[in-house]
Amino acid sequence: MNTLLKNIPKITPKYIKILEKLGLFTVQDFLFYLPFRYDDFSQTVALSDEHLNSVVTVSAVVMKTKLNRIFRRKMTIAEVYLEDENQTPLKAVWFNQPFMLESLPIGSEVRLSGKLSRMGKYFTLSNPAWERASREKTNTGQLVPIYSETPGLTSKWIRWQMKTFFANITQLEDFVPEELRKKFHLYSLISALGQIHFPENQEKLLIAQKTFAFREMFLMQIKTLRVKNTWEAQSATNLLLDEKLINKFIENLPFKLTGAQHKSSFEILRDLEKTSPMNRLLNGDVGAGKTVVAAISTLSVLSQKHQVAILAPTEVLALQHFESFCKLFSAYDFKIALLTSSYKLIFQSWEPKAQKITRDQMLGQIENGEINLVIGTHAIIQKDVNFKNLALVIIDEQHRFGVAQRSELQKETMQLKDGKKKTIPHLLTMTATPIPRTLAIAFFGSLDLSILDEMPKNRKPIITRIVLPAQRDQIYAFMRKEIDAGRQVFVILPLVEESKVLTEVKAVTEEHKKLSEIFPEYHLGLLHGRLKSKEKETVMQDFKDKKSQILVSTSVVEVGIDIPNATIMLIENSDRFGLSQLHQFRGRVGRGEHQSYCFLFTDSATKTALERMRAMEKSNDGFELSEIDLKLRGPGQLLGKSQSGFSDIAMENLNNLKLIKLARAEAQNIFKTDSKLKKHPLIAKALEKFAKDVHLE
Ligand code: ADP
Ligand code: MG
Repeated sequence: MNTLLKNIPKITPKYIKILEKLGLFTVQDFLFYLPFRYDDFSQTVALSDEHLNSVVTVSAVVMKTKLNRIFRRKMTIAEVYLEDENQTPLKAVWFNQPFMLESLPIGSEVRLSGKLSRMGKYFTLSNPAWERASREKTNTGQLVPIYSETPGLTSKWIRWQMKTFFANITQLEDFVPEELRKKFHLYSLISALGQIHFPENQEKLLIAQKTFAFREMFLMQIKTLRVKNTWEAQSATNLLLDEKLINKFIENLPFKLTGAQHKSSFEILRDLEKTSPMNRLLNGDVGAGKTVVAAISTLSVLSQKHQVAILAPTEVLALQHFESFCKLFSAYDFKIALLTSSYKLIFQSWEPKAQKITRDQMLGQIENGEINLVIGTHAIIQKDVNFKNLALVIIDEQHRFGVAQRSELQKETMQLKDGKKKTIPHLLTMTATPIPRTLAIAFFGSLDLSILDEMPKNRKPIITRIVLPAQRDQIYAFMRKEIDAGRQVFVILPLVEESKVLTEVKAVTEEHKKLSEIFPEYHLGLLHGRLKSKEKETVMQDFKDKKSQILVSTSVVEVGIDIPNATIMLIENSDRFGLSQLHQFRGRVGRGEHQSYCFLFTDSATKTALERMRAMEKSNDGFELSEIDLKLRGPGQLLGKSQSGFSDIAMENLNNLKLIKLARAEAQNIFKTDSKLKKHPLIAKALEKFAKDVHLE
């Protein structure tokens, strides 16, 4: 099992190189390289619009072939024109696989499987899996596993190699105790692997997938319990609550706190009074007003002469917080610092504006306690930053860091040089992804939860509409009208996954070009993940300063700054996003006094996609939408991969909360009697590997 692949004579160095790039070094690694989907060649469909955007298998005959070379991009496109049983035309394309033309001579009958799309008059399949129609429905059964492929490595080869390895394995260590497997009708590891790679039928495949999902959930829960345990074993500084001071602050705010803000604030303030460290998640929709809750908590700590650190995921957001806190605390004598890689600023209320200082000066003042509040990016919890008496750490937009990374951040918080002996800082994390309570408890089991489920009263609901292709011009005309009235527009493009040629950056760049031609009279900004952070900032700043009217962006805009003047959020291929994410995008508008709009462009006719889009039209409530998303797509999809830290297989099979709850209950059972896992060495070992596989972004 631990045999290195490169010591296996049959695998040539060419393959070794590719496999190692994928992180596969040993036979075991290879066995755990799991398929990401299955082609069911047993059931073919006739081409029709109703199958657009879903994965289908089609029987067809090759009519014509053509090889296109794109010299500029050093690329070939093999085009194969076919007809299905009803003579409906179909075009299949393969990128950089010119040999496909030899494999598919004119007249050959084949079955093709892939996601169906349409270009002009042709139904199209891009890089489909295929097999000859004459062939027995593959020796692996009717369900053919498809692995994520890279150049030089095909699913066919992986299946073949997998088979050889499998023939030699009789036994595998399995950390899931047998009684648990029996109780939940799960496979042993070796059977689960067998069914994952060579499924006998759909039913057995499902059990195998459930087995894998359970394994991960179970480890994750044990890990969470362990973190919680270590956290609770620590002590923290108890910060007495000065109710008078807090109430005065609240009274002087320019608005009245919502009930939820008030309740959450006091939940936190009570936690801070304890000698055990707080570990609380503040979960509230975009615009629910988390900042002021953070400010109230901060005030309580600062008034007790202790320091506070606030972490934001981006520089832009850190700067925005710095500005908000300087304003909120302008009546108090606090020294507030902004520390990111580009900014080193200090603000004191008796000075008219923020001052620049050097990093060394700043570190000195953090260490001697002159600075009370430090706001910044991840940079502030680096090793050379020493505090005098740090008592509270606040992490904003935690969802950008991910659940798996959360425990890392938590660990880092415990190890901060807070200048105090024997205590650790209290920890408050904030997230703008509304998560249904049931799910939050399962996923964030190590935290206490405060929820802002009430929006400030002054919000105008955003008008949301689904837009079909035929209505595009109408919307463009509306955009023009709004821009001419002085407003601004966001245009968001999703990640394009199927086509490897059109990367996200290319797609957004092309859209930018296209829109620049449609709207020659305006300036259009372009934003994507490949830009350096300085460049991103310039683009955002230009938009904020109204130098550009339209901002074309990939999903990086999600964590954005406040642009109250933007009133239109236009989302292309909106069906590719989850509701929570769409709702996040929508939250970028509707922040000013003007009526705002969200347009969901879609050319997908699938029923669930439309159902999801309709939910967006109907509801402006993030918690309600996340409940719907949970029902329609399951918890895995709802949280998103980076958010959950799970593998694809666990994500796709997290379609029932019950499994998570069961895994949690069993983990708790084991932990109760054996928290050091002395009696469960296999679990301890698996956990160690699991923890190692999780890295900080
Ligand atoms: P988020 O929860 O997304 O971080 P913010 O804290 O940035 O939201 O708040 C969004 C806006 O709402 C800010 O301009 C803030 O001043 C304002 N705000 C916060 N609470 C209230 C309230 N209770 N009533 C009115 N406006 C509020
Ligand atoms: Mg915020």
